[in-house]
Amino acid sequence: MIFKSINPFSQEVIAEHEILTNAQINQKLHISETAFQKWKTTSFQERADKMQKLAHILRVNKVKLGMLITNEMGKILSESIAEVEKSAENCDFYSEHAEQMLKEEIYDTPFKSMSVYDPLGAVFAIMPWNYPFWQVLRYAAPAIMAGNVTLLKHAPNVIGCAKAIENAFLEAGFPEGVFQQIVMDIPQVESVIAADIVCGVTLTGSEMAGSSVASLAGKHIKKSVMELGGSDAFIVLNDANLENAVTIATQSRMLNAGQACICAKRFIVTEKVADEFAALFAQKIQSIQQGNPLQQGIQMGPLARLDIANKLADQLEKSLHQGAKLIVGGEREDCNFQPTLIDFVDSNNIAFQEETFGPLATIIRAKDENDAIAIANNHRYGLAASLWTEDREKGLQLARKIEAGNVFVNSLVRSDSRIPFGGIKKSGYGRELGAIGIKEFMNMKSVIIQ
Ligand code: NAP
Repeated sequence: MIFKSINPFSQEVIAEHEILTNAQINQKLHISETAFQKWKTTSFQERADKMQKLAHILRVNKVKLGMLITNEMGKILSESIAEVEKSAENCDFYSEHAEQMLKEEIYDTPFKSMSVYDPLGAVFAIMPWNYPFWQVLRYAAPAIMAGNVTLLKHAPNVIGCAKAIENAFLEAGFPEGVFQQIVMDIPQVESVIAADIVCGVTLTGSEMAGSSVASLAGKHIKKSVMELGGSDAFIVLNDANLENAVTIATQSRMLNAGQACICAKRFIVTEKVADEFAALFAQKIQSIQQGNPLQQGIQMGPLARLDIANKLADQLEKSLHQGAKLIVGGEREDCNFQPTLIDFVDSNNIAFQEETFGPLATIIRAKDENDAIAIANNHRYGLAASLWTEDREKGLQLARKIEAGNVFVNSLVRSDSRIPFGGIKKSGYGRELGAIGIKEFMNMKSVIIQ
C-alpha cells in the first residue's frame, strides 16, 4: 500500500510513499528501544550540541524545506520558510533551557527530599499536515532534550516533510533511533501505543482522532497529550482600536489559508462598533491576493486537500441557508477557496458550532461585553481567544472569565516556545512548550533520604 502526495495547487502527484508492514514497524520499535538505553544516559551538553546543530541545518536549508512544505500542503512560501525558522528557534530554546527546567526540586522537610525528572522511553507522536515542521519540532525538541526518544506518524500528505525532518536529525549527529518517522496507517496505531518502549502518545489533530487515540492510550495505560481543534473567539469591545483589531483579525483568520487550530474563527463584536468593524474587515479580506503559493506577492494559496475544501464549501452553504449573510467571497475552484466573510451569524449556525478549517470568517453581534463573553464561552472548544479593548485592566479581568487555554489581549494568538500552550474542553488536555511541556512525558520521581 502507498500514500500519494498531491500538490494541492497543481493537483500533480509529487511523490508516493510505501506504508510499512507490521514487521517493519516492530523493527523500528526495536531500534527505538536500543537507542533509548544509550540516549537516556547522555549529558544535557551532548544533547544540546546536537540540537543546536539541528537548528543550524534547518536554517541553512530553510528555502529548500519551505518549498517542500509548500508543494506538499499549499501554504505560501514565505509562511513555509517562517515555519522552518520558528522550528529552529524551538530547538535553540530547549537546547538552552532543558537542563534548568529539569533540575531537581528540593522540599522543605526535616529529612532530605526532592523530585527528580527521569526520561521514560519513546514518545509516540501523531501529527497533522497544517504545520508539518512546527508541530513536530514543538514536541520533539523537548522530548529529546529530556532524554526520551520519539516515533512520528505524520499525516499522509506530508510524508516528504517527515522524511526531511528525520534526515535533518541524522545529519545533526543524533544516533539512529532517537528520532524515527514511520509511514503507517490508522489500524497500525494501536500496536505502537501498546509497545513497551512507548511511554506515551501526543496527538495534534481533530477531536475525532483525539477521542480515538486517547481511548487507546487509556486502554494501554499510557500518558497522553491531546492538542485538538478549536473555534477561537476574537472579541471586539466598544473601546477597541478598530484599525488594529481588523488588521490582526484578517491575519488571524487568513494565515495558512485559515487552516490553523488557533486561527480566530468567531468574530464576536459589540453592536455599537459592529458595522464599522464589518466594513473594514470586508475591505481587508477583499484585498487578499490568492494564487500560486510559490509566487512572490501571493498572500494565500490553496487549501491542502480537496476534501477540506469540499467540507468548507458545505459548511458555508449550510450557514447561508441558516440565515447568515454573505459579505465577501464565497467562490471556490478545486482547492482554491476565496477568502470569505459572513455576517449576522448566531449560535445555532453551523459556522458557529463547528470548526471551520479554511478562510471563512464569521461575525456574531453581541449586545455588550457580558453578552460577548457569554457567546465566546458557549462552545464545545476552548483552545484560545483574543480580546480587544483599550482598557488593559479590564482586558485582564475579562481574560479570566474566558473559557480557553490561552487568552491574548490586543494581539494575535500565537504559540511561543517560552509559554505553555494547550486547550480545555474538547480542544484537549495537557500542555506543550514552556517548562511544563518538557515534563509531560517524564517520571517525576520523589526521592527521600533519611
Ligand atoms: P486529523 O484528521 O485528526 O489528523 C491528524 C493526525 O491524526 C493525522 O496524522 C491523522 O492521520 C491522524 N489520525 C486521524 N484519525 C486517527 C485515528 N482514528 N487514529 C489514529 N490517528 C488518527 O486532523 P487534520 O484534519 O489533519 O488536522 C486538522 C485538525 O487538527 C483541526 O481540528 C485542528 O484544529 C487540529 N489542530 C490542533 C492543534 C493544536 O495545537 N491544538 C494544532 C494544529 C491542528 P490520517 O491522516 O492518516 O488519518
